[in-house]
Amino acid sequence: MSNKLLLRTLLAAGALAAAVLAPAYEVIRNGSARVLWANGSIPMQIKLGTTPTLQDGTNYSTSAQAAMDAWNAIVRNVQFAPTIAAAGAGGDRNGVNELFFASDVFGTAFETNVLAVTTSYRSSTPSSDGTYRRTQSDIVFNTAYTWNSYRGARQSGVLDLRRVAIHELGHVLGLDHPDEYGQTVSAIMSSHISDIDAATRDDMDGAQYLYAVPGVTTGPANDLFANATAVTIPASNTVTLTGSSVNAGKESGEPNHASEAGGASIWWKWTATYNGSLEVKTAGTSFDTLLAAYTGTAVNALTLVASNDDVEPASQSSSQTRNRTSIITLSVTQGTTYYFAVDGWDGEWGSNVNLTFTFAPIIPDSAPTITTQPLSQSVTVGANVVFSVVATGKPNPTYQWNKNGSAIAGATGTTLSLTGVQTSDSGNYTVTVANSVGSVTSSTAALTVNAVSTPSTGGGGGGGGGAPSHWFVAALALAALARWRQRRQ
Ligand SMILES: [Zn+2]
Repeated sequence: MSNKLLLRTLLAAGALAAAVLAPAYEVIRNGSARVLWANGSIPMQIKLGTTPTLQDGTNYSTSAQAAMDAWNAIVRNVQFAPTIAAAGAGGDRNGVNELFFASDVFGTAFETNVLAVTTSYRSSTPSSDGTYRRTQSDIVFNTAYTWNSYRGARQSGVLDLRRVAIHELGHVLGLDHPDEYGQTVSAIMSSHISDIDAATRDDMDGAQYLYAVPGVTTGPANDLFANATAVTIPASNTVTLTGSSVNAGKESGEPNHASEAGGASIWWKWTATYNGSLEVKTAGTSFDTLLAAYTGTAVNALTLVASNDDVEPASQSSSQTRNRTSIITLSVTQGTTYYFAVDGWDGEWGSNVNLTFTFAPIIPDSAPTITTQPLSQSVTVGANVVFSVVATGKPNPTYQWNKNGSAIAGATGTTLSLTGVQTSDSGNYTVTVANSVGSVTSSTAALTVNAVSTPSTGGGGGGGGGAPSHWFVAALALAALARWRQRRQ
């Protein structure tokens, strides 16, 4: 005995809103179990006719055959094996998978706006791995519409058989309508026909989740716990990382994340820079995630810190809506390394894993530390001088500049500016940096103000004797400087 599913493509009554947000494939399930074709060929009899020649040079049968080729290039474990047969009607549950035109679905009228219907049967009991086997599928194209074959935007009044075939063949493989599960998605598997004329990344992720990826035998770089990708999370900041879990697997000894079997995990790790609170979430990921945080150094000996399957309220599951996003919040200890696993419910995977970390550190109070000391300077009289200091500390420190050990009134910034300095400004400058935890005084910055030795043409030679020669004035200035230096010694 087998059970029948009816799946259909709806013609949009109005313009379909542009939907290019988080992708979110859905697969047809029996309960929570997947329904899959046995590995190998899926024979398909195409009975759509070979006339007329259509816009793209194909006919209805070769256009449908091209739709099968498109899926065959995407998946590994199964392949459509088309045969072009004479045009004609198909038979329900006759042991042959058929594509054909008809004005009803094995005697049942098409619903309003329905372009095509895929009928499917599955085994009534599961296989040893818990999945069910697809046993037969037929695709019926509605003769009430005008059909052709073309790429690109939809044309008025003429349906593109190719894209409808790709959509219906997606149902044959086991894909469902993501938008009917509350997802906003750019996918040919959406329930309404659109300008999308080929499988999107999301459609491919869904099909490859069911039937694996051609030519790919290795998982992503952070598939294994030991290869967890190190994360940098700035204090008081949010970081969103992206990755892919396509072809990821589950390791021997790996725990079930969020108490679900999963099967396609990838790993990140982070060493806490402070004590604090860390939120991790998978919002925007293209599949239904499992998320867990651990400490430990071996995949088979981890200590669970936090885990979550779905954060959405339970009320959402009352309708045909999939709960998908996982969120955990954990208290972290400075210096401890945490490991984060993102897995997919029932082993779902995708090329679009979004992982957002939000870290609220508890940064302890600390006494000031001077990271850049003020520097000694030697200038001439009249120069402008700026001393500066750079310090850290929590809470933010205050500053007091000193000259020869005495506080300078009003000098309470990170810089000390002296304009037009005189020799009397020479001295030893320091800055005291303080907060509620402690204080520190900078190293000494000596200011040396040298007397000017500028030659002058007036005023230097005493009264009445005429201007002294430049040489004479310069000699006087040099002599004065020498004496001044002597006195200091
Ligand atoms: Zn459909």
